[in-house]
Amino acid sequence: MAISARYTRYLVLAVVGLTFFYFVTRSSFQLPSTASLPKPKPTYEDFKSQKPHNTGINSTERVNATFVTLARNSDIWEIAKSIRTVEDRFNRNFNYDWVFLNDQDFDEDFKKLTTSLASGTTHYGRIPKEHWSYPEWIDQDKAREVREDMGRRKIIYGDSESYRHMCRYESGFFFRHPLMMNYEYYWRVEPSVELFCDVPRDPFLFMKQNNKKYSFVISLLEYIDTIPTLWDSAKKFLKEHPEHIADNNAMDFVSEDGGETYNKCHFWSNFEIGSLEWLRSQAYIDYFTSLDHDGGFFYERWGDAPVHSIAAATMLKRDEIHFFDEIAYYHNPFTHCPSSEQTRLDLRCHCKPHDNFDWKDYSCTNRWFSVNNLQKPDGWD
Ligand code: GDP
Ligand code: MN
Repeated sequence: MAISARYTRYLVLAVVGLTFFYFVTRSSFQLPSTASLPKPKPTYEDFKSQKPHNTGINSTERVNATFVTLARNSDIWEIAKSIRTVEDRFNRNFNYDWVFLNDQDFDEDFKKLTTSLASGTTHYGRIPKEHWSYPEWIDQDKAREVREDMGRRKIIYGDSESYRHMCRYESGFFFRHPLMMNYEYYWRVEPSVELFCDVPRDPFLFMKQNNKKYSFVISLLEYIDTIPTLWDSAKKFLKEHPEHIADNNAMDFVSEDGGETYNKCHFWSNFEIGSLEWLRSQAYIDYFTSLDHDGGFFYERWGDAPVHSIAAATMLKRDEIHFFDEIAYYHNPFTHCPSSEQTRLDLRCHCKPHDNFDWKDYSCTNRWFSVNNLQKPDGWD
């Protein structure tokens, strides 16, 4: 009797245990109905046969425009990131061309990868030697001494020769490279940048339809040690060529005393969407040629950002310059993130609002809004 009572207890325990086990794992005992079966995963062949481009936005009107990137072969992985972000947030729906420029030949790896990432047609150009070397009027010994001195003074890129050629090229030549001559507008993209929001409308079309010639997303103060005589040089040019000064220009963005001194404000040119026809205009070419003869690209370290900005602020009408609030952008170390929460949600942005540089100390974007009496976006402090 004692034995059978023990077995009964084990039997009850076993039944309770099995019942518990059944309920806990019940779902795995049930066969799914056909409706809830997962779809078979697409194969690689399916993936290849899909059209990756031209999804989403239904745009018919196009502008004669291109992305343009100046890069070295060694920039390959950093430019890959930039292309990916621009394609994902904008160009996969538009397929604009992409022009790559380099002072050396691009290698096959660079071309293969960038062509695979870009949805539009890619073009690769080598920069002619005359556009990436010393003009004859430059004293190269003096230029070297300047680099050594600026290196000792720890001025950013102060000791770099290639950086100076790069700044001069971006200031005066990229827009007249043979590959660029067929286009009307450009969007400059550098390695390692990021876009944080969907770009909801075609910025090229916006520029064209609204007669904009130059645009920016971040503006800030320049290091004065890199441009001690740039303003003097620009003033001299404008005095010699008053015909190039625009009516209703934005001089008050770059000068607070009617043009006497420069306040160091400039548009950050690692992002630019602009008119190539403006840069190829007599006014801009005369301006660049005059600055180039003054030698500051080599005897100082003039950046293309203040060079473009001073030109835009004096030789364009103020309403030909546009601030693209909706293009959320990062280039080390600054971010533009739209102030308005509604904009960030509508455009599926993933930037941190706190990182927005617009209203921080070194930004000039606040000034841009006040000198132009523009209404600040919602959420702006
Ligand atoms: P930063 O943004 O001022 O720190 O300067 P970057 O190093 O980003 O250079 C600005 C742009 O010029 C980038 O698109 C670089 O890829 C490009 N760049 C800089 N130096 C050279 C160079 O020596 N050769 C070429 N081909 N491109 C350069
Ligand atoms: Mn850069």
